[in-house]
Amino acid sequence: MALDSRIYLDNNSTTVLDPEVLDAMQFDLCNVPRNPSCIHSFGRDARNELIRAKRVIADAFEVSSEEIYFSSGATESNNFLLKGFLKKIFPKTVITTKLEHSSIFRIVEEYQKNGGDVCFLPVDKVGAPKLDDLKKVIGKQTGLLTLMAVNNETGVKTDYESFAQLAKEHNVPFVIDGVALLGKEPFKVVDGISAVSFSGHKLHAPKGIGITYLSDEFDLDPLIIGGNQQNSMRAGTHNLSGILGFSKAIELLQSILPHETLKMQKMRDRFEKTLQEKLENVLINGEGNRICNTSSIAFLGCDGESLLMSLDMQGVAASHGSACSSGSLAPSRILSAMGYPKERVESSIRFSISRFTTDSEIDRAIAIIVDVVKQMRNL
Ligand code: PMP
Repeated sequence: MALDSRIYLDNNSTTVLDPEVLDAMQFDLCNVPRNPSCIHSFGRDARNELIRAKRVIADAFEVSSEEIYFSSGATESNNFLLKGFLKKIFPKTVITTKLEHSSIFRIVEEYQKNGGDVCFLPVDKVGAPKLDDLKKVIGKQTGLLTLMAVNNETGVKTDYESFAQLAKEHNVPFVIDGVALLGKEPFKVVDGISAVSFSGHKLHAPKGIGITYLSDEFDLDPLIIGGNQQNSMRAGTHNLSGILGFSKAIELLQSILPHETLKMQKMRDRFEKTLQEKLENVLINGEGNRICNTSSIAFLGCDGESLLMSLDMQGVAASHGSACSSGSLAPSRILSAMGYPKERVESSIRFSISRFTTDSEIDRAIAIIVDVVKQMRNL
């Protein structure tokens, strides 16, 4: 999908809307009022669509519709889940890592400040926690396990199914941040997963819509209080267009994965390999198995921020890491936690493709990156 002559390689920050998703949203983006909570016929029409959309999502994840809640995005979903669970388990131990998104990490930090116990699983250059390390610490004092399925900066995958099994054996609730996984690989809720958060705008649905899966085994306090929408678990008028869009994006995955996964992986691998052939001292961050679309790359000898700006001027959009923390010049918290030296962290930038990225965009991006890096290194 050509945006214009610029090349967008920052799809872990946000993605372009899929035209089929936009189509599905039209039911609500029109001049007919549609509030699914109203009892009149307008409301009923809206409610029928809401119920259908929810069923599509629940079926895809192999859960029940009653276990799906809509939010304003994954930040809200993570806040709801973490605050809800931590309130219940205080001051027992929450096990997590220092690689989590700030919408989880900052809540865990606050829990610790307030006297709750936190155990950070060790992380290294692999970029994901190890099951053996969890085995060493999980026990009677453990109240919660929370991990991301895929790291949004490096793309490294966590073996969340094995972690879920171990959590279940110890009867410990397990919350997953599924944001960077959904849209790239199939996902379903397996035994031992208690709750998951997702964000629409990471998979060609709009911004401002999130999904929370919460197993009906658990009852958490709502984060947003008001009317009795969504069983009073999340008050506020439904974002119907967002819900229809997100549901369509998930429905589409059933027919396009794993074909699109393979396509993205081939493209990403070719991108990395060609850069490494054409330039010296180009290192890929994260030694673990990675999702198909993400490359965190250190261009040793270049300053990451300056590189990003030069690439932007040449029409290539990449990122410093999480969009939520870029804009600040601080080196990536994630790469630092993985133990990379400062020089490597500061020379790293992230490229993330989508299923709409084309081979010719990758060719053009490679040529521009090679030129810009050579120029910067010669200064
Ligand atoms: N978790 C991860 C892994 C993310 O990448 C993001 C978005 N950067 C979020 C949570 C927050 O998602 P949202 O933008 O929907 O609030």
